[in-house]
Amino acid sequence: MDGKTKTLIHGLSASEFAAALAALGEPAFRAKQIWKWLYVQRVDDWAAMRNVPATLREKLAGSYSLEPVRRLEVDGEATGTRKILVGLGDGECVEEVLIPAGDRMTVCVSSQVGCRFACVFCASGKSGFVRNLESGEMVGQVLLAFREHGDRPSNIVFMGMGEPFDNYEAVLKAIRILNDQEGLLIGARHITISTSGVIPGIERLAGEGIQVELSVSLHAPDNDLRDQLMPVNRRYPLKDLMEACQRYVAGTRRIITFEYTLIGGVNDSRRQAEALARLLKPLPARVNLIPLSPVDGYLGEAPAPQVADMFIQVLEQAGINVTLRASKGGEIEAACGQLRRRHVKAGSVGEAAGS
Ligand code: SAH
Repeated sequence: MDGKTKTLIHGLSASEFAAALAALGEPAFRAKQIWKWLYVQRVDDWAAMRNVPATLREKLAGSYSLEPVRRLEVDGEATGTRKILVGLGDGECVEEVLIPAGDRMTVCVSSQVGCRFACVFCASGKSGFVRNLESGEMVGQVLLAFREHGDRPSNIVFMGMGEPFDNYEAVLKAIRILNDQEGLLIGARHITISTSGVIPGIERLAGEGIQVELSVSLHAPDNDLRDQLMPVNRRYPLKDLMEACQRYVAGTRRIITFEYTLIGGVNDSRRQAEALARLLKPLPARVNLIPLSPVDGYLGEAPAPQVADMFIQVLEQAGINVTLRASKGGEIEAACGQLRRRHVKAGSVGEAAGS
């Protein structure tokens, strides 16, 4: 890989790319031509851009990297959920997950190396925060998934490592690149941003005029428990968060999905289900229940299936649309951050560097 010395070409928006080529004295059609090689043919070699003059290809190759990320390791079966350990130019790594369902292929991408938010049951925060991903590294994960799957992913979810709203600009730029009509053409409605509840991010997204889906991770219906599970709640407590969600829904006319990881004996009682239903009552909301995936360093467990059923029933009776995520990834450590942790513990992160 080209490491840090070159700019990731996949991190340029269509207009930035057009401006960069214009600055090199190239005609306007050239930018569109190369953009197609990047996102329609998805080549990983300058020489493959046959209709681009060799002198220009050489010039571009001197400043830009065509390989934003690389595939280091894959876990799981080709027919089921697959998890990829993704190597970055500076030797760091993140994870992405490919989740097939019927004729859909959802790709779960990371937005940061590590995470600052330290939710107690999440592996991503356990090794702390390292750095933000660049837009090109997020677009690169989607291109890698495209290659691995052999087709265009149908859905992209920013539910890998990191807090997307802690890297707001780069995430939004990556989404605009993925969304480009003459490029990858992944519809905004097929892209989901998941936040732990960073209110300024929710407010900013409402003003973007972009049709992406928003998920908010709740995990508890009251401040006491949410403070314990998610330190972010001390900064953005539930009342303020729910008010921000109401403003988002009113301003965008979009529905929010609330994620709620079910942890046996911690947040899965009937009373908590009722409290959650009351909390969500003012909103048109969906709830996605996620049985806890076991994580090193956290003792909790997923509840028994009949407890999850009771929880679903209470929410449904309150008129809330509920889904229970099948815990497919458990066996392959699909709760993000775990494959990377294993890799870091084995001391192999440095070795993955720039070779
Ligand atoms: N920072 C974003 C994205 C995180 S990952 C956010 O907090 O929303 C997506 C979801 O998986 C979040 O709801 C997160 O809390 C949840 N999650 C993390 N670790 C988990 C685990 N071990 N089991 C079940 N869900 C988990």
